[in-house]
Amino acid sequence: MTHMRPNPPPDPEAGHAIVIGAGLGGLASAMRLGAKGWRVTVIDRLDRAGGRGSSITQGGHRFDLGPTIVTVPLGLRELWAACGRDFDRDVTLKPMEPFYEIRFPDGQTFTARQDDAAMRAEVARISPRDAKGYERFLKDSEARYWFGFEDLGRRSMHRFADLVKVLPRFAMLRADRSVHAHAAGRVKDEHLRFALSFHPLFIGGDPFNVTSMYILVSHLEKAFGVHYAMGGVQAIADAMARVVVAQGGEVLHGTEVDEIVVEGGRAAGVRLASGEVMRAGIVVSNADAGHTYSRLLRNLPRKRWTDARLKRSRWSMGLYVWYFGTRGTKGMWKDVGHHSIVVGPRYREHIKDIFIRGKLAEDMSLYVHRPSVTDPSVAPEGGDTFYALSPVPHLGFGGVDWAEEEPRYREKMARMLEERLLPGFRDHISESLTFTPETFRDRYLSPYGAGFSIEPRILQSAWFRPHNVSEEVPGLFLCGAGTHPGAGLPGVVGTAEVLGTLVPDAPQGAGTVEPLPLAAE
Ligand SMILES: Cc1cc2nc3c(=O)[nH]c(=O)nc-3n(C[C@H](O)[C@H](O)[C@H](O)COP(=O)(O)OP(=O)(O)OC[C@H]3O[C@@H](n4cnc5c(N)ncnc54)[C@H](O)[C@@H]3O)c2cc1C
Repeated sequence: MTHMRPNPPPDPEAGHAIVIGAGLGGLASAMRLGAKGWRVTVIDRLDRAGGRGSSITQGGHRFDLGPTIVTVPLGLRELWAACGRDFDRDVTLKPMEPFYEIRFPDGQTFTARQDDAAMRAEVARISPRDAKGYERFLKDSEARYWFGFEDLGRRSMHRFADLVKVLPRFAMLRADRSVHAHAAGRVKDEHLRFALSFHPLFIGGDPFNVTSMYILVSHLEKAFGVHYAMGGVQAIADAMARVVVAQGGEVLHGTEVDEIVVEGGRAAGVRLASGEVMRAGIVVSNADAGHTYSRLLRNLPRKRWTDARLKRSRWSMGLYVWYFGTRGTKGMWKDVGHHSIVVGPRYREHIKDIFIRGKLAEDMSLYVHRPSVTDPSVAPEGGDTFYALSPVPHLGFGGVDWAEEEPRYREKMARMLEERLLPGFRDHISESLTFTPETFRDRYLSPYGAGFSIEPRILQSAWFRPHNVSEEVPGLFLCGAGTHPGAGLPGVVGTAEVLGTLVPDAPQGAGTVEPLPLAAE
């Protein structure tokens, strides 16, 4: 008689996935995994979903802490569709018209819109001789969109062969040139050069050094528009978290991961700051890629992402953000719309101070957010909610004691706002909150307090960026701003799409879940 060995009992955690971080990239990844049958636990140290895209409500003012401009809604719609759901049932997007206004120190302005004819007229108003160059710039932008966004940005770049295959195309598109060099090659007027080249700052890049592939942003804006999520980006994050729960997953807040547990050479779960160990078949880290390797895998000998290499990497800039609420300002500053950019006296040299010299400059350029013109829910009746953001050096350069510097810097910012955008606003301030790079370091565990993780330079993009499937330990995947394709909402939603192509379906019958209906259904 032969003895049959009984099958080993199925590992109840084999179909369990842990996602560290409930940023937009982490939640989008959790949705992708849920759609593949994984039982997902998302863990975040903050008290709410969204990471940099979360909000704080103070005195009736909702401060959207980070992203304000939603481009490429298609990416979100595709994500929802992959989970068998309809994005537009969960979130209301409002198209912006105009997109934003840029105010230059000499009084010139540039208003960006979706409408082609209006944009041409705006360019011709500022610099008629640049009309042809502008047309060529738009064509260049579209070519880079098809290659950089639709092709490279949607697939994994973790194999060296993937990089080698695309090198000729990179060379043809002059990806070695910077965004500013490309714009300057097409238009002569300095206002237009600024208007066509500042976009990398929205994803943490130095326009004078970031690869010109990023001029694709102009096409993205034109093709898909610029939108605002009613309720802020927090509303998108909350909707994502609801989908994760409806898929049978869970989102834990106020919980910090101290270490990724590696057993038998594989990621096997996480150890929480409380000491509790949670086991899983796979681990996905949406924590900053630098934090993931230097802190969460501190006890693992690493081949590629060593502490020395992370230190050598170029990090995106830091941000000083002043969130403030005003009372009794309804009807004031009628010429100030939802998004304004107030340009300081210097461009190239100011950017050099931030990214190269690491010096906190005396002057500044501001992005100002005024959601109360679009979304009444952000401020008490009769009031306004604002934030003013100034790019500053990250903490790695040293030399700025933010505790001491902060009141002085805020005063300078207030003077600039008074003079250039919001005369008399200080008499109306009712709420105030500031974030310095130190806040970014302590709240999001962002290395050097950088606003957008590793800078998207050419030698830190695609294959050169931390891969979505870890180079260091099997069973670990990475998503979010520090990974491919990169920062920004479309970028981090893209990291989840790439991740979805790398993670297999959950093992059959191993603790996987049946989706639950959403409460709204
Ligand atoms: C001020 C500002 C303005 C911006 N404006 C725009 C914009 O208009 N449009 C746009 O598209 N993009 C914008 N961006 C960029 C965009 O917001 C980010 O690139 C994106 O939100 C980053 O998402 P992420 O998935 O990488 O995760 P993050 O938002 O960085 O979230 C990571 C999460 O992981 C958690 N975490 C980290 N470590 C641990 C740990 N050990 N244990 C538990 N939890 C942990 C953190 O608490 C955090 O919640 C802006 C960013 C900022 C800061």
